[in-house]
Amino acid sequence: MSAKGLDVVIVGGGVAGLAAAAALHQRGANVMILEQAAGFLEVGAGLQISPNGARVIAALGQGAALARMAQRSDAVVLRKGATGAQVLRMQLPADSAGFHMIHRADLIDLLRKAAPDVAARMVAHVTSLRAEGPRPGVTLEGGTTFEADLILGADGLHSVVRAELNPEDAAKPFFTGQVAWRALIPCAPDAAPEAQVFMGPGRHLVSYPLREGTIRNIVAVEERRDWVQEGWSQPGNPAELRAAFAGFGGPVPDWLGAIDTLWLWGLFRHPVARHWHKYHAAVLGDAAHPTLPFMAQGANMALEDAFVLARCLDDAATIPDALAAYQAARRDRVLRVIEAANRNARNYHLRAPIAPLAHLLLRASGRIVPDAPLRQFGWIYDHDVTAA
Ligand SMILES: Cc1cc2nc3c(=O)[nH]c(=O)nc-3n(C[C@H](O)[C@H](O)[C@H](O)COP(=O)(O)OP(=O)(O)OC[C@H]3O[C@@H](n4cnc5c(N)ncnc54)[C@H](O)[C@@H]3O)c2cc1C
Repeated sequence: MSAKGLDVVIVGGGVAGLAAAAALHQRGANVMILEQAAGFLEVGAGLQISPNGARVIAALGQGAALARMAQRSDAVVLRKGATGAQVLRMQLPADSAGFHMIHRADLIDLLRKAAPDVAARMVAHVTSLRAEGPRPGVTLEGGTTFEADLILGADGLHSVVRAELNPEDAAKPFFTGQVAWRALIPCAPDAAPEAQVFMGPGRHLVSYPLREGTIRNIVAVEERRDWVQEGWSQPGNPAELRAAFAGFGGPVPDWLGAIDTLWLWGLFRHPVARHWHKYHAAVLGDAAHPTLPFMAQGANMALEDAFVLARCLDDAATIPDALAAYQAARRDRVLRVIEAANRNARNYHLRAPIAPLAHLLLRASGRIVPDAPLRQFGWIYDHDVTAA
């Protein structure tokens, strides 16, 4: 079979949905996106796109746009939260597909431009999926239905499509005991193009410049017992953030003092879906495998999923075979990335007496074998799903 001529409905127009739309459109499919929001809008926040994700963007014809819209990242620098002193500097290679720092709205725009004539319906909240049969269907709030040869759920953490493919999975996403604040502030024009991670007991803060250094992205994570709000993204209170990071030094107090608008996210986990596909329906991105941000890989995995899924549709004999090949190709890699992200959360939040010792070891290892800390993640960044 081939993806050419297939009617595909994609539920959700985030990173996974737009990347899948572009990859399938490129292969000649007729794609329709159903997005519950009024537009492809994004809260003000940054994302790090590593070489494995950048290769997919390039394969979708948007490599030049990524180079133009994103800031190339030179290094990841780990620092002590209390003083800002450097613990470890991981220099990022300049010669590969590249590490990028991009505004989420710019990434969404770039992916939308990769397939501008794909049909999209906004304010289209999907409430149910009928997966059985060769022409599965989805129903919108209000009762309108859409049928297609293939339905893809790219509908994020609270995926309706995932729930229909995994009826035995009664578990709801659970709160990890961590919240993330996200904010953008004006940036000093001479800011180094690097991601800085300030580590403290039970909390850490990541910051990097965006849009040619005109704005600075801030993500601050704190361990917390409760998450009480409905939904998982809320406007945050700058005074509360400043109080939570009052013990941090270096540039952090000035950065936090410059925040007037911010968002607070509860960080939730959900086991990786057992079934990523059934009949002629499948899930991808956070809908299949919600990924905590501590390796900055959730959007990168969504990009990889989209490309692999589209290629499997060209390579297999039937749609169910293609979807099975897609899950087989992706599941183990995604599980490994998620485990690495969970480990990073623990490492960033160490407390005394372990933290000083761990920082000493990191600093020493960085001196003896400077590229070892980055090389240990070569299996993530060097991976190229676009290679034949
Ligand atoms: C604090 C933080 C920092 C992060 N930093 C990074 C980073 O640096 N790098 C990185 O790679 N990842 C990062 N991530 C993870 C990344 O943001 C997600 O993994 C990624 O956005 C997942 O994309 P998605 O398209 O699968 O889901 P989403 O982005 O959640 O998109 C789902 C879309 O589906 C729509 N939708 C949902 N339900 C329905 C429905 N029923 N009907 C119709 N439409 C629906 C939604 O409106 C939305 O547009 C971070 C996450 C957080 C919280």
